[in-house]
Amino acid sequence: MKTIGLIGGMSWESTIPYYKIINEEIKTKLGGFHSAKIILYSVDFDEIEKCQSCGNWEKSAFILGEAAKKLEMSGADFILVCTNTMHKVYMQIQSMIKIPVIHIADATASELKKRKTFNAGLLGTKYTLTQDFYKQRLIEQGINVIVPDEEDIEQINNIIFHELCIGKIEECSKKKMLEIMMRLKNKGADGIILGCTEIGLLVKQNDFELPIFDTTEIHAKRAVELAL
Ligand code: GLU
Repeated sequence: MKTIGLIGGMSWESTIPYYKIINEEIKTKLGGFHSAKIILYSVDFDEIEKCQSCGNWEKSAFILGEAAKKLEMSGADFILVCTNTMHKVYMQIQSMIKIPVIHIADATASELKKRKTFNAGLLGTKYTLTQDFYKQRLIEQGINVIVPDEEDIEQINNIIFHELCIGKIEECSKKKMLEIMMRLKNKGADGIILGCTEIGLLVKQNDFELPIFDTTEIHAKRAVELAL
């Protein structure tokens, strides 16, 4: 079994599901007392969030690149950056180490194609939804990406940063998120990407009629495939 390196803490609320899903998946596949070999480097999200909001992506790339180096030195075979947004600096992180960084959008695109979903509604932070780094990666893999309108992007971003990242799960926000998902369906989406690792804490497959692609789950399961 290979050793999985996780750069977590962005936010830690969504790193817990990564740890749990990876171990559950190993248990399903190997049974008995088996559990995953994981090295977790958990950052202080306050530092990362400050870099995001003032646009200092270079500094955040350096922080995450240094974390990646430590994981590599500690014996990780490959790395997951446990957030969609910080894939903005994926190239910089990858350039600082020799072991592969498994891109969350690549894992998601494979899953979309496997389930024949080519018109995907995307939910995520304002960075993920308004900039190209993430959407473009999906488009290059044959996925048509449908994004919410400006007002909805603002609402999703507020729910992520003012609630989910600090552990608040609010029923009224779940209702708002489901309404936004319905508007994506009306714009032609045949599936919804939870393109933020915390959104799966708020909405589940049972809450919505279209197939839901939870990037946390997809990314974590991809790690197990690679580890075995
Ligand atoms: N975890 C979130 C994501 O998947 C948002 C937190 C962050 O900005 O890194 O994008």
